[in-house]
Amino acid sequence: MPNSLAPIVRSLSTRTSLSLTRTSLFNFMILLAGVFAAAAYSLIYLAHDMDQSEQAESAFHTRKAMQSMEKSMRLTVKDYAFWSDAYKHLHLKVDNEWAYTRGNIGATLFQDFGFQGLFVVDDAGRTVYAVVDGQLQTLDLTEWLDQPITQLLEQARAGVESETPISTLINVRGSPALVAAAAITPGTDPTVVADDREPSVLIFVDILDGTKLGVIGDDFGVNKLHIATPNEIAKGTFVALGNNGSAGNLYWQPERPGMRLIGVGLPLLGLAALLVCLMTWVILRRSTAAALALDASHASLQNSRSALATSEARFRDVVEASSDWVWEIDADWRFTYLSERFESVTGLTRDVWIGAAMNDLLTTEGGLLSQWLCNPQRCPDLSVQCVYLDAKGQERTTRLAARQMACGGFRGTATDVTEEVEARRRIEFLSQHDALTGLPNRTRLQAFLDGKLKALPTPERPLVMLSLDLDRFKPVNDLLGHAAGDRVLNEVSSRLTACVRHGDLVARVGGDEFVLILTEAGTQDEVENLCGRLIAAIEQAICIDEQEVFISASIGIVLAPNDAVEVAELLRYADIALYEAKAAGRNTWRFYSGEMNARIIERRRLESDLRYAIKHGELRLHFQPRYRIADGQMVGAEALVRWQHPVRGLIAPDTFIAIAEESGLILSLSDWVLATACACAAEWPDNLFVSVNLSPIEFKRGDLVQRVHHALNTSGIDPARVELEITESVMLEDAVGALEIMHTLKQLGVRIAMDDFGTGYSSLSYLRAFPFDGLKIDRSFLTRLEDSADDKAIIQAIVGLGRALALTVTAEGIETAEHLAMLKAVACDEGQGYFLSRPMDVTAFNGLLADDRRHTQPI
Ligand code: C2E
Ligand code: CA
Ligand code: CA
Repeated sequence: MPNSLAPIVRSLSTRTSLSLTRTSLFNFMILLAGVFAAAAYSLIYLAHDMDQSEQAESAFHTRKAMQSMEKSMRLTVKDYAFWSDAYKHLHLKVDNEWAYTRGNIGATLFQDFGFQGLFVVDDAGRTVYAVVDGQLQTLDLTEWLDQPITQLLEQARAGVESETPISTLINVRGSPALVAAAAITPGTDPTVVADDREPSVLIFVDILDGTKLGVIGDDFGVNKLHIATPNEIAKGTFVALGNNGSAGNLYWQPERPGMRLIGVGLPLLGLAALLVCLMTWVILRRSTAAALALDASHASLQNSRSALATSEARFRDVVEASSDWVWEIDADWRFTYLSERFESVTGLTRDVWIGAAMNDLLTTEGGLLSQWLCNPQRCPDLSVQCVYLDAKGQERTTRLAARQMACGGFRGTATDVTEEVEARRRIEFLSQHDALTGLPNRTRLQAFLDGKLKALPTPERPLVMLSLDLDRFKPVNDLLGHAAGDRVLNEVSSRLTACVRHGDLVARVGGDEFVLILTEAGTQDEVENLCGRLIAAIEQAICIDEQEVFISASIGIVLAPNDAVEVAELLRYADIALYEAKAAGRNTWRFYSGEMNARIIERRRLESDLRYAIKHGELRLHFQPRYRIADGQMVGAEALVRWQHPVRGLIAPDTFIAIAEESGLILSLSDWVLATACACAAEWPDNLFVSVNLSPIEFKRGDLVQRVHHALNTSGIDPARVELEITESVMLEDAVGALEIMHTLKQLGVRIAMDDFGTGYSSLSYLRAFPFDGLKIDRSFLTRLEDSADDKAIIQAIVGLGRALALTVTAEGIETAEHLAMLKAVACDEGQGYFLSRPMDVTAFNGLLADDRRHTQPI
């Protein structure tokens, strides 16, 4: 707002224009009322004055009329009196015949002039001739007039010489009467001889009655001339007749031009006042509305002024408080304004940058910032991300919002999003990478594979995927702790990464599972070469806290497009190949083949068949006797499960135990074995025990103790005659849990033996810490016995160890007499093997038991 407006606005703010307008109008109204009052007063005054003058004029005219009548009457009387014939016939003698009958001075005067009385009075004062109302009468004039006439007669005779008539006004019976008199003379007629008597006087009387007065008034322009009533006399304006009104007073209906003027003027004035009032009211209304509008506009002006001030303050606060900096550029893309924040955020100097080109500071990914700003398709609400170098030369990211200004150029804000972008990058990285090793994770692998497969690899230049799983990693974690496990994984990650080329991908997809994508693998030999190097690299000892850890790996290999072109399929096939590699004894690799898939399908079928088999009694239990080596006495038998398949015939446990374990069917399978074994053994001689194999899965799932307890109870067998065989892997999975379960099992009274000793870690600590009653040396030691002299030493050591720990040592896989001899030589406790007895069905075993002789083997 310009400064000059300020005081006006301020004064307006103290008094509203509405009240101002009202006051002005009120004053104006008073003024108008004054004017109208003055006009009305003037009008009334003027009217009164007019009426006054009209009254005066009427009085003048009335007087004039009287005078005129007097004069006319005098002339008339003169004409008759100064006439020689009248002298002869009314003075010298009274000749009625001449005067009245002949009508010389008779009725015509009454008829034509309206003279009521015509009289002649002689020198003796006698009325000698009298005509009243046109009738000849005999009467005395003094009586008729009811007043003396002496003076009248004298005055009339006095004018005889000069032939001057006289006239007077008198009152006759309440009415004014005009009396004109003249002495009768012979006039200029020389033939008439005058006598010496006093001349007779001719008197005409005209009584002015109402009618006559009205006619006279009309003739002289005096309205309704009449004899004044006492009320009218009281008004003061009248014409007195005779001496001081002795003859009466005349009054008239005065013309009232003033009243007429008032009658017309006052209503007009009132109308004008009313109109003015009406107009004023309209104006007041209009002006009130206008004033209200004005006030409103003043108020809104005030409001917008204060809003503007608030807005400015707000803008200032926001600009100062905001972490953003505000910028403006002109049409040449040069900075014209930079807020203070610019300096604190960027570390750069405003003075240096004002006037500098915006493009010199900020760059966008998609080209010049100016191009982005003038792109017509740019949505004004969209922001653009730019980078710039701050005062320390470090790249920072800022998000720019821009609006075009009316004068050209742009203005907007710049939000520093460096941390946000960094965090987003980090999140993006984490979402795509494994937090422990920093290797790409499954998500990144998926995206990478998608990209590579889109490039359409060919059978000649296939994309190679390796699924790599660490062998023997689990025990590292369990025995050395998770921190050590993490270090092993990190070490493996770097070794794997070191083996592949730039452009290949190494991803961690599970605990100890990795997937490698080789983009330029070349021939099968080259791939195998790499697998060999990978395994070799992993097999290198890993030093953890001065302890050497040895692990290995199995690898499954799949090729795209040769084997599959879908990511999910490739991953699945690679796992199948890995599974095959592990099944092939670990520490090796396998290329995926169609047969593998067939095998998987076969497994699935077996799984469903097995589910059916367990429910429908297709399982069989065989028993393999165990003998005491020292004397060849049978001590017990191991229960070994078989599956009597309706199509495939008798299937060995190696084929379906793994499937049972993977599918969870192992629990129901094992329940059947436990129950059957206990039930069978309960029938055996008391000195024979039955040995039942347990799966590690049973330690993890299901209540093993409860299940064993149930089998023992159901069969009623002495728990001491039941032995449970468990493998080392049980302890490897969860040593603490396994220990607890084993102790509880022991409380049931059963024996526990470690099966397949020597294939796993063969950790002595397990043997010491866990409540084992015996251990079974894996049959692979006897199998290799011919080739390796070491194995005999190992067997001997194990036997010695077992004895030291008070364990019954059993050798498995005794296939020859030499095996037996050797075991006898090392004083192995017990033995089991085809050489002694093959596993046999219940019938065969019962037959064996029945044949007492065969209880003992010829050792
Ligand atoms: P294992 O516990 O080591 O059982 C001994 C295996 O060695 C049996 O194979 C047996 O037939 C075989 N065997 C015995 N003497 C000789 C010999 O002189 N030479 C050779 N080459 N082999 C001999 P089988 O019955 O096929 O059992 C294989 C594996 O299946 C068993 O190995 C055991 O781990 C598992 N198994 C068998 N029955 C059950 C069971 O009821 N439950 C569980 N969880 N596993 C079972
Ligand atoms: Ca066994
Ligand atoms: Ca075994």
